[in-house]
Amino acid sequence: MDSIRSAGEIARIDIADATGFSPATVTAITSELLNAGLIEEIIPENKQSQSRRGRPRVAIKLAGRSHLIAGVKLGHKVISVLVLDFEGQDVVSQEFPIANPRMDPAEFVEVMLEAVSKTCESGGFTINDLSGIGLSMAGLIHATDGFVHWSSSLTERNVDMGALMEKASPCPVFIDNDANLVAKAEHLFGVARNLENFIVITIEHGVGMGIIIDGKIYRGIRGCGAELGHTKVQLEGALCQCGQRGCLEAYVGDYAILREAHSVLGEEIHEDVGSLYDAANNGDQLAVSVLDRAARMLALGLANVVNIFDPELIILAGAQMSYRHLYEDKIIDAAKQQVVQIDAEMPPIRVHAWGDLMWAKGAAAYAIDQVSALKVRELSRNAD
Ligand SMILES: [Zn+2]
Repeated sequence: MDSIRSAGEIARIDIADATGFSPATVTAITSELLNAGLIEEIIPENKQSQSRRGRPRVAIKLAGRSHLIAGVKLGHKVISVLVLDFEGQDVVSQEFPIANPRMDPAEFVEVMLEAVSKTCESGGFTINDLSGIGLSMAGLIHATDGFVHWSSSLTERNVDMGALMEKASPCPVFIDNDANLVAKAEHLFGVARNLENFIVITIEHGVGMGIIIDGKIYRGIRGCGAELGHTKVQLEGALCQCGQRGCLEAYVGDYAILREAHSVLGEEIHEDVGSLYDAANNGDQLAVSVLDRAARMLALGLANVVNIFDPELIILAGAQMSYRHLYEDKIIDAAKQQVVQIDAEMPPIRVHAWGDLMWAKGAAAYAIDQVSALKVRELSRNAD
């Protein structure tokens, strides 16, 4: 299934070459997948694609219409939902404002499924037609069982969100940390296609990181790896929303920047970081100094990432222009100065600001993988 997905269309003999399975095994497996409706054959029409023996060279591809899969990106202010078909083609998408950024688990489940339902209805089908939902949220999440150790979107810690969703949803729900799923989207659809070792840093309400090693997401043993936002940059430093002090996020996250601005100014003049950025550009020295500290802290974090991982590429991914203050060349230059110096080019750092829907696409792509695996397991159980 993976080799068909990555090729798009592929002949059986080429699957045998790609996987190392014998042609007979590939034929047996593909006939089961055909019977299950997961793949379909494409009979070539022109003679050029016929092999020398005169038999048409039949390619196979995933059966696009066999499954509809939703991806959900839960942000701090917006929920984005995107439905893909089994081939990964966009079907329908919608975005919804979030009334309450920090919900209790029951409300969270309700809000999430309502957004998915409404999106499905706008596409002329219902949530019951979905084969799976991928959910991307910030926090410390054990992806295998959908257990949320902690998330800034929830009022409670240690929530068995996978089980809660399972009870309320008509189809399986797969949950993962949002930065991991952005990394997945970058790998499949973005600037990291063809790369096997790279890092995505997401800057939104908090600071997240997705690590791809040898083409796979690295999550850590407890699902708590890659928490760049909670690496410490200051002993006894600023208070973080995780409850600890001195985390990178407590200097770089938008809430942290606004908190600093308000404490310097003594009043709440700026509603968002965008307005602070505009003030800085208009010569407001207090605004300049607040943003400058955040920038220097982010540079420190970036340099630490290069010093630990030495990846092929670092991608700074953020959804909105409201984070443009963190995407400046001077930050990347400052990071370069703190990287261990050797006589080789340092890994490139690229800014890739894309919309929330691409994050949702990463979530949907993850759910497509999981649904494929489920269907294949069902097939093998039936064969026993
Ligand atoms: Zn923290």
